[in-house]
Amino acid sequence: MIPFIFFPNKKPKFIINKKFKRFDIKEGFTLKTKNPYKLIKKYFNINVYTGKQIHSDKIKIITEKNRIKKFKADAFITDKDGIAIGVRVADCVGTVIFDKKNKIIAAVHSGWRGIANKIIAKTIKKMKKIYKTKPDDLIVSMSPAIGKCCYEIGYDLFNKLKKQKVFSNIFEKRQNKIYMDLHKANLNLLLKEKVKRKNIYINNMCTYCNKNLFFSYRREGEKAGRMIYFIMLKKGK
Ligand SMILES: [Zn+2]
Repeated sequence: MIPFIFFPNKKPKFIINKKFKRFDIKEGFTLKTKNPYKLIKKYFNINVYTGKQIHSDKIKIITEKNRIKKFKADAFITDKDGIAIGVRVADCVGTVIFDKKNKIIAAVHSGWRGIANKIIAKTIKKMKKIYKTKPDDLIVSMSPAIGKCCYEIGYDLFNKLKKQKVFSNIFEKRQNKIYMDLHKANLNLLLKEKVKRKNIYINNMCTYCNKNLFFSYRREGEKAGRMIYFIMLKKGK
């Protein structure tokens, strides 16, 4: 089951994880739109922070003061309410993380490079170190991304990753081609960090297959638009 509310035919166009509704946070994943920032602003009255993503394992903590800078990083963490943090994706996985006890949030961008660099695990390790986050208190949600139905990868990457136990079950071979499951790779990394399986939500819709709903870098190339997956602790909570 996909625990998301889905608005494909109405404006504004968002996917919202209804499991988050229990908490004092706002969260959403934009569907295909020219200007996702504008849409988020219009619907939620939020200016969402996204950095300059570089397919790295760099993590940046966003504060009231430094939020004006566009940091080169692929994960953002904040403990400040009223600051929306997000990542831009078109095939890559956007993940939002919520520490319900300490009220800390994170947004992570991970394609195959981010996964190979284990950025999601490093983000959680950082939350543990700085905010004493406990894995039991984490709720994690992953956006739609290119599925293993469509995400063909080269043998170089396959040979490099498959040796690691955490990635041993994320590949599928079909007619001598290798396909990678980005969601599952992130899921394995999260489970290894002791996040509870029942607290991890995955929207496994494929961005490549669903042309009407999502942009896809693999399908549209460099000119592909981007969706944003964002999270914010509500102001005055
Ligand atoms: Zn697909």
